[in-house]
Amino acid sequence: MAERSSHLNWPQIEGIISDLDGVVYRGNSGIEDAIHALGGWKAAGLPFCFVTNNSTHTPDDVVRKLDALGLAIAPTDVVTSAITAATFIRAKHPDVSRVYVIGAPSLVKAVADVGLEPTDQKPEVVLMGLDRQISHEKMRIAVEAILNGAAFLGTNPDLLLPTASGFEPGAGAIIAAVAAATQINPLIIGKPEPHMIETALARLGTARNATLMVGDQIPTDIQAGKRAGLSTVLVTTGVPLREKDPSLLQPDFIVSSLSEIEVLPRRTRRHRQRRV
Ligand SMILES: [Mg+2]
Repeated sequence: MAERSSHLNWPQIEGIISDLDGVVYRGNSGIEDAIHALGGWKAAGLPFCFVTNNSTHTPDDVVRKLDALGLAIAPTDVVTSAITAATFIRAKHPDVSRVYVIGAPSLVKAVADVGLEPTDQKPEVVLMGLDRQISHEKMRIAVEAILNGAAFLGTNPDLLLPTASGFEPGAGAIIAAVAAATQINPLIIGKPEPHMIETALARLGTARNATLMVGDQIPTDIQAGKRAGLSTVLVTTGVPLREKDPSLLQPDFIVSSLSEIEVLPRRTRRHRQRRV
């Protein structure tokens, strides 16, 4: 059962892994309390790493966005589903070179950056993310490749994304169309799967049981944190809390602002070398 906390004082925190949208900003507006808290943690020497299911932005895009909101971070402080997917393909399919990518330019770049070849010619892997230029032809190429034996990966399962005027279909919706056509389910990389959390943990170099996972959504952020064995904090600044789904793991703590997470100054914590 989650502890609804007005103040989370947890001296053994060595690092924080956090979602971005709904936690640090909503659309293009920064969440002031969060920016302030993160700035304080940075000054106190507490390492943090962001994990985002959004495959349409590069870490550099996120750095620029946060900089404009008043928080200076490094590209290595951001783990995206695009980069995690590309790294995953490299690690799990070492003999593969040809990948058919349906997604934003940032996803194509992530694939090329790890030495894979984005191509529609005899692909060995199909990787799908959110593509706002999705077409029947792109889906046809993906379906044909998967039916011919290509591995099928999806960046993230989000079906619906909030926009300024309402909602738009997310990556999960177009991935589901190809899964329906092929009757083959993709391997999903983003939250709630733990891959991105593992990548972030490796970058932080912090102990699993001393790292907090912070997010605004139970089905993605909290599930991913739990699956990776982290303590989880739900912050209620993003997606409104819905009826409790008993099938979902519940957060360990619920806060209404990141400022409620109190950390001790660096000198009182065990020092750890940060890895990037
Ligand atoms: Mg979120």
